[in-house]
Amino acid sequence: MLRYAAHLPLSGIGKAGLLRIRDAHIAMVGIGGLGCAAAQYLVSSGIGKLTLCDYDTVTESNLSRQILYRATDLGQLKTNAAINSLQNLNPETELHSITGRMHDENMQSLFPDCDLVIDASDNYGTRLAVNRSCLELGIPWIMASCIRMEGQLMLLRPDLPEQACYRCAYGEAPDALEDCPGAGIFAPVAGIAGASAAHFALAYLAGMQAPEGLHLFDATNWEWRSLKIPKNPNCQDCSNL
Ligand SMILES: [Zn+2]
Repeated sequence: MLRYAAHLPLSGIGKAGLLRIRDAHIAMVGIGGLGCAAAQYLVSSGIGKLTLCDYDTVTESNLSRQILYRATDLGQLKTNAAINSLQNLNPETELHSITGRMHDENMQSLFPDCDLVIDASDNYGTRLAVNRSCLELGIPWIMASCIRMEGQLMLLRPDLPEQACYRCAYGEAPDALEDCPGAGIFAPVAGIAGASAAHFALAYLAGMQAPEGLHLFDATNWEWRSLKIPKNPNCQDCSNL
């Protein structure tokens, strides 16, 4: 417990919150810039079990913002390099990985064992698949993304049927966040978005009141905006559940 002593005096966490965090399992889809930052805080804060999902290998252009990886990791699978780094950070966390692209089938087998899913992938298709799987299974998840100087976050609660799903919020709009490397990403913005995702996750697991709605961060003007997202009664993903 000494490792987490700074969390003990915080109202909303305390010993009971630390134990809930210790007993929780999170699946994280994507361990790029955002996922690396989020995973670091989850593991350093004592998450009990974390399953990392990614198909990619570490390249030189990742190193500016994907802070779990070192120059010696070039060419290694991100899942392996991330686990090595995170296990040194906190040997108490149980770390697992799925190396490969995430699709409906492996989501349906992994997610039921999880208390929370974090989507830190870089594409709309994966986020929609996470949305569908979490809706079917009733599992809360965090959508977190970043591009250029902007970040977006939303805690989605399929276990609360009156709340909007990801497709309610985004509909059929093409995803401007699809190509991070092409559009550019400021390294600290990936860190801010990742640390924010970890904050949402740990606060939710500890039992704190989680911020509702879609949260947009604009680092150029240093502004946060929060939008209430109404449930779409005709949403093709959540209206028939
Ligand atoms: Zn919906």
